[in-house]
Amino acid sequence: MSFQPPKGVDDIHLPESGIWRRVLTAWEEWSERFGYPLIITPIFESTELFERGVGDTTDVVTKQMYTFEDKGGRSITLRPEGTAGVVRAFLDSGAQGAWKAAYSGPMFRYERPQKGRNRQFYQVGVEYLDVEAPMADIEVIELGYRYIEDVGVEELELRINSLGDATCRPVYLENLRQFFKDIEEDLCDDSVALIDRNPLRILDCKVCADVVGDAPSMTDFLCNECQAHYDAVKRGLDTVGIPFIEDKKLVRGLDYYTRTAFEYIGIGLDAAQNAVGGGGRYDGLAESIGGRRAPGVGFALGIDRIVLALGEQPGEPELDIYVVSETTPADALPLVSALRRGGLAVDFDASGRSVKAQFKSAAKSGAPTTVILHGQGQDVSVRIEDDRHEIPLQEVVNWLISHK
Ligand code: AMP
Repeated sequence: MSFQPPKGVDDIHLPESGIWRRVLTAWEEWSERFGYPLIITPIFESTELFERGVGDTTDVVTKQMYTFEDKGGRSITLRPEGTAGVVRAFLDSGAQGAWKAAYSGPMFRYERPQKGRNRQFYQVGVEYLDVEAPMADIEVIELGYRYIEDVGVEELELRINSLGDATCRPVYLENLRQFFKDIEEDLCDDSVALIDRNPLRILDCKVCADVVGDAPSMTDFLCNECQAHYDAVKRGLDTVGIPFIEDKKLVRGLDYYTRTAFEYIGIGLDAAQNAVGGGGRYDGLAESIGGRRAPGVGFALGIDRIVLALGEQPGEPELDIYVVSETTPADALPLVSALRRGGLAVDFDASGRSVKAQFKSAAKSGAPTTVILHGQGQDVSVRIEDDRHEIPLQEVVNWLISHK
């Protein structure tokens, strides 16, 4: 009997995993550069956290959660997104005042699998909490943009919108409801069901895309405070030189957004799955999960899709050096260990295969340098591409470190 991964999840091997490693390392660097310390939250939480934090009218909560009862009778859900858990952790920590965190890890949604849409997928993201100023939105949006650009996604487009707040959104929603009621016969069944419950989501419906074009836009209904916030965000993006497109129909799949909403689009990807990330402001989220008021802004980026957008790339060699031993692996061990301790990425053949087989492995590894150990106490040959150097064994470690 043999097993394959369940539907909608995959193993990730070389060469693709080499791109994953590079992209995730770059994430650590960029999030640190913008001052976001790492937070690690549980992969499962109580179901109610997501029902209240993500919104019980969303597809994520109504259709996509991996929910089960644990042996103690608690309802547990594998996290479908990262924000609710991070905000819970923030509230739980009792922190006061501006607070930042970066996370990364797998998320789980029971979706119809297709290219760029998996049941386990990997997100990186940040949350900037207890700050209401538009400066926070600008910083967060810039971080995501610079990172995605730096890892090499071409044709990146930033789309932004404002979703208003508790003052102006209800007025807009009433207008939107009326608009949809008037054209009800042109909408799909799913959209009709949303008119009363959550009309914003209809703007997102792929089937109804043609008829929602004339729907009223939130940005025409913004109250003075939301308008000023939106204008400040746009000015800030101009200041830091981030191009953006205003997309009046941009809404987000999760309920908790207020004011700023944004998406990063990889326009080279298939249109249905071309959002490589998205985020926004969620001033009401902390309260909706039972905490104090703590406005915040954040994003989540889909690493699976970023890697997809990068396409096939020549994998960078992960090794600096491959050591070939003409005698035994045991003779090579002290040298390999010393080189690794010296900071070099080194591999060798542990099983004592023929010298010819070891050279094959050296070539396959892509390591730019091959070290040939003739025997204990003898000189060592170092081959760097077509150059060959004979170095005394005692000097070879320092020699290689200085020639890195
Ligand atoms: P969301 O948490 O829905 O705002 O999604 C943020 C980003 O995560 C999206 O832009 C996608 O890049 C990625 N993402 C969301 N769902 C999936 C999925 N099922 N498979 C792969 N990536 C996903």
